[in-house]
Amino acid sequence: MPDADAVSLAPLRTAHADRMSWSKAVQDLVESTPPPHCDQAVLHAPGICRWCDQLPQWQALRELWGIAFTGEQPTDTQISCPSDFRRGFGAAGQRWPGNRIEPPA
Ligand SMILES: [Zn+2]
Repeated sequence: MPDADAVSLAPLRTAHADRMSWSKAVQDLVESTPPPHCDQAVLHAPGICRWCDQLPQWQALRELWGIAFTGEQPTDTQISCPSDFRRGFGAAGQRWPGNRIEPPA
């Protein structure tokens, strides 16, 4: 069932459909928006971090690709957050303040 609050990736697909591949559209998105935290693999779920909430398309891509958000256990259909996988669950935020959740104002 579609989530009415989900960020649509359709504008990306539409804007690039006539001359660029989907992968080029994703590459453009990544190059145009720097990662929200020091560890580039850290991305928090929508609604809990003011820095990550500025990148709703990145959050939508992570959901589309079936990757758990940082600090969340993966569901049966997801793989772990790459940062949690490499460093240990929650370790990135424990070691470096720049990777911690910054609650929305
Ligand atoms: Zn964040």
